[in-house]
Amino acid sequence: MKHIPSIARNGSQPQKLAVLRQAHQEWNDSPDILTRLTRRLSTTLSLDNQMAILAEEIGGVVPFDALQYRHQISGTDFIYASGVGGPHRCDYRLNLEGEFYGTLSLRRRQKFAEPELEAIELILGAAICPIRNACRFITIEQAALTDSLTGVPNKRAMDEAMQRARQLSDRHGDKYSLILCDLDHFKAVNDSHGHVVGDHLLKLAARELEKAVRSSDSVYRFGGEEFAILLPHTAEQEARKVADRIRENIDAIVVNCGDIDVSVTASCGVATHLTGEVADQWLARADEALYQAKDHGRNCTRVFASIG
Ligand code: GH3
Ligand code: MG
Ligand code: MG
Repeated sequence: MKHIPSIARNGSQPQKLAVLRQAHQEWNDSPDILTRLTRRLSTTLSLDNQMAILAEEIGGVVPFDALQYRHQISGTDFIYASGVGGPHRCDYRLNLEGEFYGTLSLRRRQKFAEPELEAIELILGAAICPIRNACRFITIEQAALTDSLTGVPNKRAMDEAMQRARQLSDRHGDKYSLILCDLDHFKAVNDSHGHVVGDHLLKLAARELEKAVRSSDSVYRFGGEEFAILLPHTAEQEARKVADRIRENIDAIVVNCGDIDVSVTASCGVATHLTGEVADQWLARADEALYQAKDHGRNCTRVFASIG
């Protein structure tokens, strides 16, 4: 590390600026790999981009055939892989201040020599702070899209998914259906048995919803006691069947509260995306269908029929 000339502290303003300009230039043009690596890693919070940069910089010092990075972040596996393997490998568990930030493996045809392993360790040592930040960023992003009570994605995640679905439906003509599912007379459940029981029922309902749908469908907590399910490649009548299955699953939930068993029913509204329709219009039609289900006495499904 170079000494900052005393002029940087004591000089005139133009002198200070000149010193700063020179330092900036040197920092930018530095041939030193660790300076360049940390500078490049600091430009992105994307773990994918960081791994691509890391692979490039390690490759400049220690040639390898394949790099793989794995880490479980907020319950989801993050995997980055580049190149194809070889029989020799070296694995690193990335740790910082007692926290684990994933495993990085390098493979190649020739054995890794001791000085090469030391070089990789020095590079990883310089990369670990930015990697930690990128991992934390994923955790925070994930939390911002997840409902804390039920653990399913929240309204914000749903808005984003509906925008994507709407675009795909318009572009490729894929059928996307939306189900809104609202628990019936839920206020009475809270009033009679308390919020703790209400919260417990909401958690169980979310779990049953996830069980009732395919892995390609997504469940969201849309509001208080209201859930939404987005179904790709699904037309109205198929979506109606899913909605009825969801209602059956919710109806089967029983929470034992001492002398009394508490259960709940749900009403569902279904709407399939129409070409050119914006997300709000699509949602409004599903909401209208839900309103009709409530108006019809609850514990039933209504479809907003598309014409043609
Ligand atoms: P409807 O059949 O017309 O939907 O009647 P409802 O009572 O379910 O609907 P309403 O909109 O009148 O009341 C919704 C209730 O949902 C009121 C509120 O206390 C409850 N609720 C919303 N969010 C939560 C929550 O996070 N936990 C609990 N326990 N209750 C919630
Ligand atoms: Mg309700
Ligand atoms: Mg409601």
